[in-house]
Amino acid sequence: MGSALNRQIDTVLVKTASRCNLDCSYCYVYNLGDEGWKSQPRRMADAVMAAVIDQLGALSKSQSHPLSVVLHGGEPLLLGLGATERFISGLKSNLRADAGLHVQTNGVLLTNEFIDIFDRFDVGISISLDGPAELHDRNRLDRHGDGSHERVVAGVARLVAHSARDRLFSGLLAVVDPTSDPVEVYEFLKATGAPSFDFLYRDGNHDALPPGKSQRDSTEYGDWMVRLLDHYLADLTPPRIRVLDDLIRLILGGQGRKEGIGQDEYGILVIDTDGRITRNDTLKVAFPGADRFSFDPSIVNRDLLDQLAGAELDDYFNLHHPTSPTCEACPELTVCGGGMPAHRWSTKNGYSNPTVFCSDQLQLISAVRSRLGIAAKGIYSHEGSP
Ligand code: SF4
Repeated sequence: MGSALNRQIDTVLVKTASRCNLDCSYCYVYNLGDEGWKSQPRRMADAVMAAVIDQLGALSKSQSHPLSVVLHGGEPLLLGLGATERFISGLKSNLRADAGLHVQTNGVLLTNEFIDIFDRFDVGISISLDGPAELHDRNRLDRHGDGSHERVVAGVARLVAHSARDRLFSGLLAVVDPTSDPVEVYEFLKATGAPSFDFLYRDGNHDALPPGKSQRDSTEYGDWMVRLLDHYLADLTPPRIRVLDDLIRLILGGQGRKEGIGQDEYGILVIDTDGRITRNDTLKVAFPGADRFSFDPSIVNRDLLDQLAGAELDDYFNLHHPTSPTCEACPELTVCGGGMPAHRWSTKNGYSNPTVFCSDQLQLISAVRSRLGIAAKGIYSHEGSP
């Protein structure tokens, strides 16, 4: 068995179920062209879970950085109560004591029985909820075409009512629709009682612009985020908003906490239901199969540390550092970081572009700087589109 990887892994997303009980229109797993999920087992089998427990335990003990393990999908709760309990019990006893356990769920199946299990093993819970019903149900429909909002809000309410909610509830994850009202979204999410929210942009790249973005240099997402920022700063009892808190921290010279902004490396691996190990599956947004390593590593009957010891892990990590001349010369590179690799993609230049949200990020960073009373760093350029 290998002794350690030459890079630190921050997060492993474990796909305990490859299918989902919802059919969200913007889902990068199912609805952006990659059909790899069709060949995956619906749920992770016991033998694969045993290998994950064993090998992630070894990984967590081999590196200095604490490991975070996230039950992910599809919808991870489709694994069922019994298997979920066995799996997280095994992980808890095998991972190093400082490892974090989390679940990212759409909330529909989040019963009190699940919450009690997560309570017993100290598993942080994050729930996907886009905002008020009309907004959420534009995209987050079930397989019968019915909206999921009511059931998701009921799941959130069960978690908020639980005695361990302060320890368990990590927060809400919302996808931005730039045609919506950010103040309305903020107030709705806050009223659920969630302690924190995070916001993701709709996926896209330079070949296929994200929905709601009319041109590469338009700022619909940036405008939306600036309105959110101003409402957030005016709130005397605010929740935490991860992406805005990270931006403020980075501008003040500190560090972010998650990939997508800033220049820190966040090593993310994915384990599919059959045990295959891949790069971050958000790369599927670039092109089908972009998340695969060339040699198809697996957690089953093969050693993770040995398999990932080669140069391909370095190549994957290096992907996070922007290579476009525009980013390299950008006065805001240390804050923006060039965005998610998948959002930099174009057929012409590969990943060597600024993020397709470059103009939005400059708009938002400029607004944060001005609200903090900190001057902009040089003159912004929105050039660099392929
Ligand atoms: S050029 Fe754009 S994408 Fe690149 S670092 Fe600057 S703001 Fe970010």
